[in-house]
Amino acid sequence: MRSYGLARLLSKSIFLIFLISCGIFTILGSGGGGSDSADDVDEGSNAPSFRFLSKPFIGNYKPWQWVDHEYPMWPIVKNGTIVTYWGERSSTIGYDGHVGTDYKMPIGTTLVAATSGEVIHAGFFEQDCSVFDDNWNVHEMSGQVAIQKIVNGVVYNIFYDHMSRVDVDQGDKVVAGQPIGLSGRTGCAGPFPHLHLNVSIVGKRGNWITVDPYGWQGSAEIPDDPWATHPKGAVSHYLWKEEP
Ligand SMILES: [Zn+2]
Repeated sequence: MRSYGLARLLSKSIFLIFLISCGIFTILGSGGGGSDSADDVDEGSNAPSFRFLSKPFIGNYKPWQWVDHEYPMWPIVKNGTIVTYWGERSSTIGYDGHVGTDYKMPIGTTLVAATSGEVIHAGFFEQDCSVFDDNWNVHEMSGQVAIQKIVNGVVYNIFYDHMSRVDVDQGDKVVAGQPIGLSGRTGCAGPFPHLHLNVSIVGKRGNWITVDPYGWQGSAEIPDDPWATHPKGAVSHYLWKEEP
């Protein structure tokens, strides 16, 4: 009986080793190739990097305010500083928790689709600007467009804000470079006309997870992307094929 037990134990062990081996091979097999499944993209996961964005406007306007890499969760999380994609920690570049990149430009600048995709949001929508000026009654209408693009199963939303004119409708299919409206100073744009551009990955629950299309380079002070290890974070990637 003892030997029988040992034999069973041995065969069980071999089976277990077999399962573990399969598991290891499965992990190794899927490690290099990336994933095509949208189910694999959610908070905390590493989204693949694809260069699919082109300049979102006509003309030359450089970024003016940056995504806050540390916590791009305005107005929910504020910690007093902004961390840029090159790793600079500052309280003066942009504003705390900024969830996009701002490009200062004259009102009426032509905005174009930064990628082909489907318009999932377009028109003028009310914004609560009280988070800026402590006046809970300040609401402004803001011209907005969001284009959705699915790249290898990853759902990206490209969101334009503060527009003065919107020339597309929800459900429209657009191609990269196609005019979608004009820039402006609507909503909570403040004193400077600008385009606020947000790039997000859509999470499992439909939530938008801000990513920085300018990627992350790190720095001596912050060698790793703090957003990558944040419980609700996603790795930032360089997504431009034609940089503004
Ligand atoms: Zn902005």
